[in-house]
Amino acid sequence: MPKIRGLLFDKDGTLFDFQATWGGWAADLVLDLADGDTGHADLLASRIRLDRLARRFAPDSVAIAGTVDDSVAALLPELPEMDRAQLVDYLIASSKWLTPVEAVPLVPLLAQLKASGLVLGVATNDAEAAAREQLSSIGALACFDFVVGADSGHGAKPDPGQCLAFCETIGLPPEQVAMVGDSTHDLHAGAAAGMVPIAVLSGPARREHLAGHAAVVLPDIGHLPDWLGLA
Ligand SMILES: [Mg+2]
Repeated sequence: MPKIRGLLFDKDGTLFDFQATWGGWAADLVLDLADGDTGHADLLASRIRLDRLARRFAPDSVAIAGTVDDSVAALLPELPEMDRAQLVDYLIASSKWLTPVEAVPLVPLLAQLKASGLVLGVATNDAEAAAREQLSSIGALACFDFVVGADSGHGAKPDPGQCLAFCETIGLPPEQVAMVGDSTHDLHAGAAAGMVPIAVLSGPARREHLAGHAAVVLPDIGHLPDWLGLA
């Protein structure tokens, strides 16, 4: 395998621990939507397969596999006083104040990777502004030379557009760049671009779902320096 000189990271489930970040956010959200009525909050949670007290989604939750619209469609029947647009606005507004939970302490890891000469980027299917806001809130935005979302004009994963844009921007051939992600979407996007697909288990997908699509499966991104031979 050629030497890896660039790393493109997925955001949710890769840089951020998926369940700790989004499970906790959703648990607070359903209680707020229910106006503090825990019975109603439990009903809302069940619609999106969220264990409200454990603050974790079930692996088959629509919130994991689906789009925002799918989650809205699941919740709306239990919210007769809201219409679709109101609920979408509410979800977007509340995700702006989300406190991301890092999969591992990010700034020291990213600093180590950069110090080794690697160029770092982020490609998420979330919106670019949300990604920048969340990375900035933990002091990690400056570590990245490239941050794109599904609304940045390069398409969305599993299509390879974001990956190819990263390689072009940083001037490296795809085979010297790895796509690091927690879902088959990330791995397929990276492979379609000719990059090395690296899977991590800090998202909802299990090893058996990812192993066949990745050059390597790591527990989390904290294992990258070892795998890259930097440590
Ligand atoms: Mg992900």
